[in-house]
Amino acid sequence: SNILVRDEGVKGVVVHLSAPAFHEIRIEGRRVVAGGGASLGRVVTTSVRYGLAGLESLIAIPGTIGGALHGNAGAQGGDIGQWTRSVTIFSTDGQADQRDRDELQFSYRRSNLDDLAIVEAEFELEEDDPRELVRRMQKNWIVKKSAQPLGHQCAGCVFKNPSGAAAAELIEAAGLKGTRIGGAMVSERHAGFIVADSDCTASDVLRLIHFVRDQVRERMGVELQLEIEIW
Ligand SMILES: Cc1cc2nc3c(=O)[nH]c(=O)nc-3n(C[C@H](O)[C@H](O)[C@H](O)COP(=O)(O)OP(=O)(O)OC[C@H]3O[C@@H](n4cnc5c(N)ncnc54)[C@H](O)[C@@H]3O)c2cc1C
Repeated sequence: SNILVRDEGVKGVVVHLSAPAFHEIRIEGRRVVAGGGASLGRVVTTSVRYGLAGLESLIAIPGTIGGALHGNAGAQGGDIGQWTRSVTIFSTDGQADQRDRDELQFSYRRSNLDDLAIVEAEFELEEDDPRELVRRMQKNWIVKKSAQPLGHQCAGCVFKNPSGAAAAELIEAAGLKGTRIGGAMVSERHAGFIVADSDCTASDVLRLIHFVRDQVRERMGVELQLEIEIW
């Protein structure tokens, strides 16, 4: 949910953690252990059901635990990194290795987890009233969903927020909401997203990304940096 794959495809091997073992979620006291392929949404709802607080601001972020850790996914003031206790990775030389808290670095949409595969992670959460937690999670879900494009194909927000500003607000202020190239369009609902028609190509999206970046630089004087990855 954070990658744009070029029309030519990927030259190389793409690893998909589809085996059930990579989707497991276990609760051990205040700790949640989840496989790298587990859905982030399911980890959030499971934690909340067990009265464990911390991850509920991440509800409605699509994707997996591995993807969330790689890019330190976050929303509404929280991010996954702040609750992460350890991560098990598998490297290109075939070794498994556990990284503990003091070896992990997380910042805005970045981490130092650039290994071949994140296969498991452990989160240490805080006990809270499950009913209050469900209420908070539902509120977060409504706030997030109301700002996301509905019924469209899209990746996440295309650009990072520059310091002190929101990328979506800059794009909107530059008059670019609804701008279209081929089958790609800047979302009318949230200018941070590019939505794709069924006949859209990756090259349409790339051309629109360059156009938006150029226009925001010219009209607003800000150089936007990509948040999504282009493969
Ligand atoms: C509608 C919508 C809303 C979104 N809202 C938010 C938001 O509020 N906040 C936010 O932070 N993001 C948001 N995103 C972006 C996206 O959901 C997150 O970045 C998500 O964490 C990506 O996870 P993924 O599993 O889809 O990773 P992918 O997109 O598949 O991969 C992203 C990167 O992570 C790496 N990666 C993935 N899995 C692993 C693994 N197991 N081991 C090692 N590396 C791995 C990939 O190689 C790639 O480099 C949104 C996206 C959409 C479509």
